[in-house]
Amino acid sequence: MGVAQAEMSRQIERVRRWMGGQMHINVTSVWGIAGVVLLAPGWAVLLIAALYLHLWLRVWRHVSTRPAHRVVASTAWIVLSCWGAAVTLQVTGLGGLVGIPPGGVRGAAVVLVAALSFELVNLLVVATGIYLYTQQRSLTDLVGTWGDNALELVTLCLGGLTATALVYQPILVLLIYPPLLLLHRHVLIKQLEAAVATDEKTGLFNNAGWHHIANRELDRAKRSRGTLAIFMVDIDHFKKINDTYGHLAGDAVLKAVAATINHSVRDYDSVGRFGGEEFVVLLPDIAPADIEEVAERVRHAVTQLAVPLGDDSLTTIKGISVSVGTAAYPSAGTALDRLIHAADTALLHAKRVGRNRVSHAADGHAGTAETNGHPVKRSASDSSVGSPR
Ligand code: GH3
Ligand code: MG
Ligand code: MG
Repeated sequence: MGVAQAEMSRQIERVRRWMGGQMHINVTSVWGIAGVVLLAPGWAVLLIAALYLHLWLRVWRHVSTRPAHRVVASTAWIVLSCWGAAVTLQVTGLGGLVGIPPGGVRGAAVVLVAALSFELVNLLVVATGIYLYTQQRSLTDLVGTWGDNALELVTLCLGGLTATALVYQPILVLLIYPPLLLLHRHVLIKQLEAAVATDEKTGLFNNAGWHHIANRELDRAKRSRGTLAIFMVDIDHFKKINDTYGHLAGDAVLKAVAATINHSVRDYDSVGRFGGEEFVVLLPDIAPADIEEVAERVRHAVTQLAVPLGDDSLTTIKGISVSVGTAAYPSAGTALDRLIHAADTALLHAKRVGRNRVSHAADGHAGTAETNGHPVKRSASDSSVGSPR
């Protein structure tokens, strides 16, 4: 049945794998769960290994963006999850579903314990694997979003129902195909949605993705009379880095700066790449008094960067800096375009007065004040500030 399902959704899976990225959901776990509650641990593991081998032969082998070690890793993860769940059933004395009369509490307990322990082991193994591989620390990167986990829960439910049907009403197991195929398609759509909003080079939001979130957050701030700030961040003399070290090194600097900005702000702030070497940060619910501190933290963190030239090179690019323009809602404007323009104007001011500094759009967009690690000097407004770029 697993092989038939994989064959039916081969195209979906191929697109999904071709898109790459971390996979937190895998519809093959449906058969894994069923295997765990119906078979001895060794056979359950063998079942999963066979299904993955089939997937590799028919789909993954043809997707060049999927390196072999990733395939081996994801197979090992799901095998470990299966084995963990099967062992839990043995240790708790619940055993399998086979031979238990229908309607009893024990059958339900077997399915629930299997699904829960499968999910727990899977979460643990996958999070550890992703951490070791990418050094990501954010919870969402490690264990997936709420949406990912909701979908995972659906696969567990379908797995439990498949096992139950196989034991008590085998023919009805065919009913599992339509929801399973639909689920697989839905997972692909979710992945496409995320890809459309992501900048490929840096992994940050792209222009469209960032605007989508910014509009939502601005509406929320208006409704709740809250606050919000926007930072425009531009790398200083980036062209020189490209010209001196080449485009590949330039790309490495771009990625490093993107990651640094991301780590310097809170988890619920949204960092986007506006194109080129220009970034934009959305900071909801930020007290006006904190804006300067956060912007300074971003600026300072970038100055500490040492980006290696190539993978095994000991030479590093240092002395990278950014200029930052900030604008606060509602003082600098109430429409998103207006706020972006105000932050952009402040950024231009920071560039003009020497780079590697933070410049704030003043109230009513009349002027700016800048900092460079020193106490803020509320300067007189620059006559050219406020004019379009
Ligand atoms: P300023 O301090 O005034 O911002 O100077 P700058 O050199 O950073 O700004 P400028 O706009 O003159 O140059 C930006 C450069 O960024 C030019 C462009 O070739 C380069 N660039 C844009 N996108 C990428 C990219 O994805 N990778 C690399 N390596 N370079 C890029
Ligand atoms: Mg620049
Ligand atoms: Mg620029």
